[in-house]
Amino acid sequence: MRNIILFGAPGAGKGTQSAIIREKFDFAYISTGEILRAEIKAGTELGKQAEDLINKGELVSDEIIIGMIKSFIENNTTKDLLLDGFPRTVKQAEALDEILTSMQRGKAKVVELEVDKDVLMKRLLKRAEIEGRKDDNEETIRERFNQYDKKTAAVADYYKKKGDYIAIDGEHGTPQEISVKLIDILEKL
Ligand code: UDP
Ligand code: MG
Repeated sequence: MRNIILFGAPGAGKGTQSAIIREKFDFAYISTGEILRAEIKAGTELGKQAEDLINKGELVSDEIIIGMIKSFIENNTTKDLLLDGFPRTVKQAEALDEILTSMQRGKAKVVELEVDKDVLMKRLLKRAEIEGRKDDNEETIRERFNQYDKKTAAVADYYKKKGDYIAIDGEHGTPQEISVKLIDILEKL
């Protein structure tokens, strides 16, 4: 069974590409960011804990996120996995490996959408106007980039070392054009 990590900095297009490729492949899909936003909306205890962190651009703890992913994978044993926005730290990547091994699901493969930071900032500020996400303001976006550089970029190196990483240009071309490249890669994985 395939375990695909769609990887990239904030605004790289993970959510957009996930929606397109899910029309073609029958993935069990999880976006940890979407779950956290739903928890905030529902006013749950987890939502209350996550809200301040998200609005500051910081990361929710590994413990909470790993717990979320573990139960998702345990509840979706028959389908290929598409992970959007996870893992965000090397610790999360190591935990994922353990879960996949214990579930006999094989390795995770990373596909990164590469986009220049200036372009990301422009995209996120534009998204702010359309979707009104509270964390899509310039100050919070800067901190999200900072967290990405400090904690998340190392996840790419972790999978590169294993030979389970591939990158595509996520910047030039329409979402449809980028999805063609992505689908081509997924068909070979
Ligand atoms: N977040 C987190 N861990 C996750 C997913 C999301 O801490 O696994 C928090 C974090 O504060 C992040 C925010 O939720 O900045 C939005 O995440 P999402 O993946 O939706 O946004 P993206 O970075 O893809 O724009
Ligand atoms: Mg996203």
